Amino acid sequence: MTSPFIEQEDLYGAHNYKPLPVVLTRGEGVYVWDENGKRYLDMMSAYSAVSHGHCHPKLVDALKHQASQLNIVSRAFYTDKLGPFLENICKHTGFEKALPMNTGAEAVETALKAARKWAYVVKGVPADKAEIIACSGNFHGRTISIVSMSTESQYRFGFGPFTPGFTIIPYGDVEALEHAITPNTAAFLVEPIKGEGGIIVPPKDYLAKCAAICKKHNVLLICDEIQTGLGRTGKLLACEHGGIKPDAVVLGKALGGGILPVSLFLTRKEVMDVFTPGDHGSTFGGNPLAAAVAAKAIEVLFEENLIERAQKVGEYFQQRLRSLRSPLIKDVRGKGLLIGVEIDEKIPARQICLQLLSFGILTKETHNTVVRFAPPLIITEEQIDVVINALQQVLAEIDIKSTAK
Ligand SMILES: *Cc1c(COP(=O)(O)O)cnc(C)c1O
Repeated sequence: MTSPFIEQEDLYGAHNYKPLPVVLTRGEGVYVWDENGKRYLDMMSAYSAVSHGHCHPKLVDALKHQASQLNIVSRAFYTDKLGPFLENICKHTGFEKALPMNTGAEAVETALKAARKWAYVVKGVPADKAEIIACSGNFHGRTISIVSMSTESQYRFGFGPFTPGFTIIPYGDVEALEHAITPNTAAFLVEPIKGEGGIIVPPKDYLAKCAAICKKHNVLLICDEIQTGLGRTGKLLACEHGGIKPDAVVLGKALGGGILPVSLFLTRKEVMDVFTPGDHGSTFGGNPLAAAVAAKAIEVLFEENLIERAQKVGEYFQQRLRSLRSPLIKDVRGKGLLIGVEIDEKIPARQICLQLLSFGILTKETHNTVVRFAPPLIITEEQIDVVINALQQVLAEIDIKSTAK
């Protein structure tokens, strides 16, 4: 299938993505439509950024209303929207302070800067010696400093020299954390469930043990909840599954209600207070349009019980996936509505995604062998049945073909 829009993007755009061949023009709830009017179930929701569904009416109203009032003023002035937004998210998450940015990567950079400066001015680490520990197979974004923490060769190749000061340990390995900590360690940055790394759920007691080790050594535990946060895994924050409250959290993606890029770094006062005027900032971070939409997005999450829905419908989805009993499915894992299906390595996961596309189901592979299912949290069990039936047919077709060879 080709389209003038695909050719145009191809011709004038950088080739830093390899999209599936579909041109989307409209979205509503769990559905999107292509340029020919064909409807698709969105099982990908923009890498979990569209948890509320496309064009949620309450969020579109909040956007329209605020757009006609005031949009961008920079942080050189106060607005009537930022304070209420920050108070709201702090009260829901139990953190004392929040610093608004736009994209996830910017909020992660904010976390790294906060951790380093905290190490110098509070913990007493000698100048320029602060170390930050991260995990292999992580995904925290795409800036130079963030890819300096990456172990993914494609994320790094051609982009050196890298930012120093990072130590990488295996994910899920508590002893490795204990060994990696030195007197200069500022923070341990970790995803409660690895998203881009293939939807990897760590051992049940992992986060609790990490939290205890960090506490013992006066190291900040920072959870990157950009993908897992805000109800995606069936809890407001995925770290709740581990029964912990980290020292800091990074939010993004769904925070913008599927409409705008909005991100936050949240922590306690002692850490946030290392920032003084002029230390750090963002022209657009915390703008009243973003603040109004994000505040509404959090409100809707609770009003519509989306967190409990993710938990309940996610369990149903995983149970249906497991009951498929296809020899091509090697593993079903995840929490809530962040689910990965590991496919036999003989079959590229992208092939499954392409075939699902013809059934009107949108999703995207991660890590070549994992098909990701992360629909809007408003999805119903009936809609999940549609996905299961399509997947069953796709797997059966592939199975017949691969055994016929
Ligand atoms: C998507 C993601 C990021 C980066 O967010 P951007 O908005 O793309 O910069 C960081 N961490 C995690 C866990 C993510 O899933």
